[in-house]
Amino acid sequence: MPLDTAATWSAPGRVNLIGEHTDYNDGLVLPIALPQRTHARVSLRDDGILEVSSTAAPGVVRVPVAQIGPEAPGGWASYVAGVVWALRGAGHDVPGLTVHITSDVPVGAGLSSSAALECSVAAALSDLLGLGLLADDAGRAELGRLCQLAENEVAQAPTGGMDQAIAMRGRAGHALFLDCRDGSARQVPFDPEAHGLRLLVVDTRAKHALVDGQYAARRTACIEAAQTLGVPSLRSADPADVEARLTGTARQRARHVVTEIQRVRECVEALGHGDFARVGATFVASHESLRDDFEVSCIELDTVVDAALGAGAWGARMTGGGFGGSAIALLPAASADAVVAAVAEAFDLRGFDPPTAFFVAPGPGAGADLAERG
Ligand code: ADP
Ligand code: MG
Repeated sequence: MPLDTAATWSAPGRVNLIGEHTDYNDGLVLPIALPQRTHARVSLRDDGILEVSSTAAPGVVRVPVAQIGPEAPGGWASYVAGVVWALRGAGHDVPGLTVHITSDVPVGAGLSSSAALECSVAAALSDLLGLGLLADDAGRAELGRLCQLAENEVAQAPTGGMDQAIAMRGRAGHALFLDCRDGSARQVPFDPEAHGLRLLVVDTRAKHALVDGQYAARRTACIEAAQTLGVPSLRSADPADVEARLTGTARQRARHVVTEIQRVRECVEALGHGDFARVGATFVASHESLRDDFEVSCIELDTVVDAALGAGAWGARMTGGGFGGSAIALLPAASADAVVAAVAEAFDLRGFDPPTAFFVAPGPGAGADLAERG
């Protein structure tokens, strides 16, 4: 079926169930795609210009596609321009395009609005240029890889590949068990509601200074620890070696990564048995490791986790990079109201701004918005 000259594509935000700060260590992750999505209305043009606007940002950004690079256009439009740049770099001729963005993914909340933005545009370009990359998982993985390149090189954010992978490859009712070493993935059924449970996302709306610098510092610490151990990445590190041959902060950082990779395996195994109590226990252990060994949590995230567990959640943890952003909690449906109220009350008691809380179930990855098709 031919597409309209201007049509709409969308891609989801995500939460990672477990496997935090493992993606850039060639590790394992287990994200789900959120029902919240970023929509890109896109049409091609033949004058070599990229024109971008968003309801979330003032004005219109225009840049010749041939001039896109690390310094151009800068700002939020770099996430869109980067996708054009990456596709051109991969040999696809992108003549020029007009893009308008709308989104209900919270921005900067650790729910990956950046990858949702990139992947909505990548999905549009795949269809508009007839690349056919949405047709199968291999094509989607390739688009995700190009979106990661866009974020790393043009938006200049040194993120791993998890966010783009789940935005492209997510499936409703499933978590994506992704191996970041080779990009291979398995869809794992994730349907807590069938077990009388719910998955809660709490956006703390807290933003701490130095977030970007701390993220880069953790990446560097992991690379250095791997070098000390003589392995290509911490994925290949032996846990006993981490304890015996590293000291101090290096040992803490590496210990988080190697134990977290093991927890992802344990969580997937528990899901396979429908053992959500054990799933919850892996969430709690993950949070403690991120808080104590990797030191990327913060008082607001700890408050969500403690309040949720105190009010009956089976598991809770920070999700995303940390230092603010969001936390998740797995809880019995019957405790849903109590957990939300306990979190709100704990924030109020400490004088924090009220958090935003919502329940989620895994939705699909990027694609055309069917209602928009001609
Ligand atoms: P996260 O991906 O966790 O939301 P990031 O810092 O990685 O946080 O990405 C947020 C950035 O992505 C924003 O500062 C903005 O530049 C860009 N962005 C995301 N969504 C939109 C949108 N709907 N409109 C404009 N820019 C957006
Ligand atoms: Mg992001």
